[in-house]
Amino acid sequence: MIELSTTTRQLVSHLFPSPVGDQVTQLLEHECAENLPLTSSPDAVGLERIRFAVIRASDGDIDRLLKLISLAQQDWRDVLVVAEFANSVDEHRLWADRVLAAARLPNVPEETNMPNYICTNCGNQYGASEEPPLHCLICEDEREFVNPEGQSWTTLDEVKREHRNVLSTMEPGLSAIETEPKFAIGQRALLVQASKGNVLWDCVSLIDNETVEAIQALGGISALAMSHPHMFGSMVDWSHAFGDAPIYLHTDYQQWIQRPDPVIEFWDGEDRNLAEGPTLHRCGGHFKGSTVLLWPEGAEGRGVLLSSDGVQVAKDRRHVSFMYSYPNYIPLAATMVDRIVDKVLQLKFDRIYSAFHYLEIEADAKEAVQRSADRYKQAIG
Ligand SMILES: [Zn+2]
Ligand SMILES: [Zn+2]
Repeated sequence: MIELSTTTRQLVSHLFPSPVGDQVTQLLEHECAENLPLTSSPDAVGLERIRFAVIRASDGDIDRLLKLISLAQQDWRDVLVVAEFANSVDEHRLWADRVLAAARLPNVPEETNMPNYICTNCGNQYGASEEPPLHCLICEDEREFVNPEGQSWTTLDEVKREHRNVLSTMEPGLSAIETEPKFAIGQRALLVQASKGNVLWDCVSLIDNETVEAIQALGGISALAMSHPHMFGSMVDWSHAFGDAPIYLHTDYQQWIQRPDPVIEFWDGEDRNLAEGPTLHRCGGHFKGSTVLLWPEGAEGRGVLLSSDGVQVAKDRRHVSFMYSYPNYIPLAATMVDRIVDKVLQLKFDRIYSAFHYLEIEADAKEAVQRSADRYKQAIG
């Protein structure tokens, strides 16, 4: 019998509290083991990858775990695909590192004067620490990249010294917040003034008094929602600046939180209605939890989709694209593209705003999504 590795045991005890954890250990040791139809003789390294995949895709649910084990017994490669471990031989280990690193973080931050370091490459703000973190887990993931000059860190105070935020009106009820000069990934946050309250979609790293005053003049922020971890910026500081407004994140992002805080509220499943009016929808692809926001009142009532990187607007502003990694040019499989398109085409919208300056599709955006998906699938063959 190939026993569970130490890391596998740690993952099980973190994701399946006892007594279920013991049952999961037994199942993995006996049912997800040498009995799988492996292509070569079973070894501990190969089995660990399959076991990690079963654990990840089960989302802590033992019934789902049983189904995944039966799937592995038919074809273990399918389980790697479901867990998003199929594209790279290292992805499962990076995932385990992230989960276990997040488990070691405190749930409630202590009052402290230590800075919250910000990664200069991705703009993510980390929990307070005396020294900068050794690694940026967002940048070490293959959907981002580590600065070739080396990992470097800054703080909000330093960012304030050299940068400012510029607000611009995109259409009535929708403003973009962009940092100048460009900082880190360079995305924009979008403020939706919906009928029942304002929602900040995605975030930037800089927040200062001028920004807070300008947004207060537009009615403040009653909720924040993030599409995926590349856009988290300094979201916790943003929430604190607006009366601890809740930050809605898909539950899949639990492992990506670098600065835990009680203002973060996880939502599960496929769709979530916000009290302010807009709705959140998980479309997956770029990240398993990749979320889009639908603002039905936008575009004079024809509906606006805030798509971020889940459905990326191309530079011609007539097409979109769907990538696993944008900086490293890793495409998505056709089945995944179909899943994203099926999801977003169920929504009623005519216009798309992506996460970046000037990248929007003014009208007939649903046709653009369909046309782009056909073109994309033809290109990847
Ligand atoms: Zn980073
Ligand atoms: Zn991204």
